[in-house]
Amino acid sequence: MTGTALPTTDELRARALSALGTLGVTVPEGGDFSARSPITGDDLFGLRAATAAEAEAAVAEARTAFLTWRTTPAPRRGELVRRLGELLREHKSDLADLVTIEAGKIRSEALGEVQEMIDICDFAVGLSRQLYGRTIASERPGHRLAETWHPLGVVGVISAFNFPAAVWSWNTAVALACGDTVVWKPSERTPLISLACDRLLARAAEDVGAPREVHRLLLGDRAVGERLVDDPRVALVSATGSTRMGREVGPRVAARFGRSLLELGGNNAAIVAPSADLDLAVQGIVFAAAGTAGQRCTTLRRLIVHRDIAETLTERLTAAYRKLPIGDPFDENTLVGPLISAVALEAMNSALARVQAQGGKVLAGGNRRLSEAAPQAAYAEPVLVRVDEQTDVVKEETFAPILYVLTYDTLEEAIALHNDVPQGLSSSIFTRDQQEAEIFLSAAGSDCGIANVNIGTSGAEIGGAFGGEKDTGGGRESGSDAWKAYMRSATNTINYSSELSLAQNVSFL
Ligand code: NAD
Repeated sequence: MTGTALPTTDELRARALSALGTLGVTVPEGGDFSARSPITGDDLFGLRAATAAEAEAAVAEARTAFLTWRTTPAPRRGELVRRLGELLREHKSDLADLVTIEAGKIRSEALGEVQEMIDICDFAVGLSRQLYGRTIASERPGHRLAETWHPLGVVGVISAFNFPAAVWSWNTAVALACGDTVVWKPSERTPLISLACDRLLARAAEDVGAPREVHRLLLGDRAVGERLVDDPRVALVSATGSTRMGREVGPRVAARFGRSLLELGGNNAAIVAPSADLDLAVQGIVFAAAGTAGQRCTTLRRLIVHRDIAETLTERLTAAYRKLPIGDPFDENTLVGPLISAVALEAMNSALARVQAQGGKVLAGGNRRLSEAAPQAAYAEPVLVRVDEQTDVVKEETFAPILYVLTYDTLEEAIALHNDVPQGLSSSIFTRDQQEAEIFLSAAGSDCGIANVNIGTSGAEIGGAFGGEKDTGGGRESGSDAWKAYMRSATNTINYSSELSLAQNVSFL
């Protein structure tokens, strides 16, 4: 437990206003929905949601801006992203304040989220000079084949509450460098940080002389998101959130032959082998399972431990869990902040009740905290639960800090348990046995989009592509060649001979 009292809602409101003021944001006040802080669970400001006409205008403006942006040389587009990165660096502390106020992240994780935005800007600036296509050997004399990459159009970004700014930046920095324009519908639970990001991008556009309309922000709930989903002018819908959301969005976008990039729920596991360095494993597990109060898509939710070390490891984890400081995320000593809402706490308690009814045994945690100091807030102790089998509740993603501990005897059994869930986002193995590590990373190993060795499931770097398989949606964002999702390719056949020769030796005329 942390010793300090929680800030009051008035203090949080003042801190938010101070950050917004420094960032130059005007809050669109209204009565449609509220900016709220999970730190006290209270509303901060009433806000106005985008109307249908505003959503229509935003897409139209982004589409018009696309027509000039797509022919702006890519390295010049990169200058906009570079300027955005500079402004993010300058305002890192204020942005992190807003992330903490709205998403409840502890200070170092909130700063880390802003750092991730800066990193992807750097990446996208470099990318703006590296949108490579290949040349391909032609079967015909005097011919050349080439692959060219062109901007795609308007990208609709729909984002979740738990990475309220970083997910936007992964999409936006890359999309802008690729020559696309962006309309963003952030989570209705994190409107303030999205107003701040939009403002900084507007300033960057002004500073480098880019059209302001390359980026539009639409505040509001899913109904606003649905407008992007159904609008044929939105070439790509990049949607991050629950699998439930993806199941609705994916087919709707496909029905109009639009493209979608889905980043959905995870149910991530780590295998701990007998040779594992347990000091390292305990640190990696506790950060991945309890960090961000269990509210990362890559949060570690299942631990698959070799039977020989299960008792030692669970004892060490139990001791670590009992000491976790829970409370005010602004307090430097806190490691676990609040859950996003009372509904999230109910979902956590309901999953705990179900798993206990299915034979699970709670080893540590599970109690509510600070209910007297902040009755509207949802602080909970991260929980460690021993389970004998992977029952239905274990196979679900409960977006809260619950870690289910299972045991195994053979690596084959561990990998089978690991893959036997609907989701396929992140995974890891703790081992000092190279053969085991390689098997886990092989085609017969983890079926996830992210597979790690001797590090937890969460905390990816932006340089690699990010995303997962199965119910996680199949999308890839951020680094590596994820940029290709934001562009369209064309194959060019160029005849520089004086004769027309047809492919496959076809003769005609
Ligand atoms: P959510 O699904 O409730 O909402 C996400 C976003 O989708 C919000 O902006 C919401 O307004 C919008 N939305 C919901 N239904 C919609 C619809 N039918 N049409 C259009 N828009 C719709 O998710 P959340 O609670 O904000 O976030 C937590 C979830 O997000 C978890 O499942 C987590 O694993 C997932 N997540 C995944 C990744 C990833 O990269 N794979 C990253 C972050 C979060």
